[in-house]
Amino acid sequence: MGQASNGLREAQAAMRDALAAARRVVVFTGAGISTECGIPDFRSPGGLWSKNMPIHFDEFVGSEDNRIEAWRRKFAMEEHFAGAEPGRGHKAVAHLVLKGKVSHVITQNIDGLHQASGVPEEKVIELHGNGTYATCLDCGERCEHAWVKIEFDRTGRPPACPRCAGLIKSATISFGQAMPEREMMRAREATLGCDLFVSIGSSLVVYPAAGFPIMAKQAGASLVILNREKTELDDIADLVLNEDIGTVMAPLAHGRNEP
Ligand code: NAD
Ligand code: ZN
Repeated sequence: MGQASNGLREAQAAMRDALAAARRVVVFTGAGISTECGIPDFRSPGGLWSKNMPIHFDEFVGSEDNRIEAWRRKFAMEEHFAGAEPGRGHKAVAHLVLKGKVSHVITQNIDGLHQASGVPEEKVIELHGNGTYATCLDCGERCEHAWVKIEFDRTGRPPACPRCAGLIKSATISFGQAMPEREMMRAREATLGCDLFVSIGSSLVVYPAAGFPIMAKQAGASLVILNREKTELDDIADLVLNEDIGTVMAPLAHGRNEP
């Protein structure tokens, strides 16, 4: 059973010590790292996600009405989150990547905030895609949301791919959609190569993503979980910190408490 923290100072020290003892760290993030940036997680009150639940992949592909509804919800969410900036957790993680302590950031988030905080593109592994642009489901052509929105507002329907006339969908992985193979492979490699795996802000209920902390443990790495609430994998963790992410991580961004 993981050891629970009493108090913030202890949590900060425990995180610093765990990082200091490790050679190669993988950070794994979920929606909790972005809540202080104004993007709610699934479980927070306020109902944003329940009103704008992502549409299942089969439903999206299956009918134009569903695609229209999916885009309407997407644009509604964008209005809320436009201009979100990296938080203290993102900045600390970026600092740890840039100084070579953290080899990769595996994220379930689709908000692009790890890249925005300065983590180089090749070190970010987006398991659930990216919600800041769209791609064609047939040929992979990238399309900007701004363009989709202009066409949507003009015609009342989402546009077809300008290259192949295929279906254009936000570049996120929807429920029911296959996981991105290359990202899954990169995440596996990164996980098997680390001696410390740190999960930050995830309830660890969504699979296959939540399989990575288990894989890390099975391969002999230590597992640290930082999350305000209990998670599904607390029992196998070496250390569980039930504290606020930004507050625990902030000192690490400034080189104070340097691990
Ligand atoms: P989740 O909503 O299931 O869990 C988030 C966890 O973060 C919760 O257990 C909560 O207690 C914790 N948390 C929230 N704010 C915190 C804080 N300030 N400090 C400490 N803990 C905090 O999220 P998940 O595990 O990432 O899974 C949900 C799925 O929804 C993912 O697949 C993800 O792709 C998607 N999603 C993404 C975003 C985003 O891109 N920012 C936002 C919501 C949902
Ligand atoms: Zn196309």
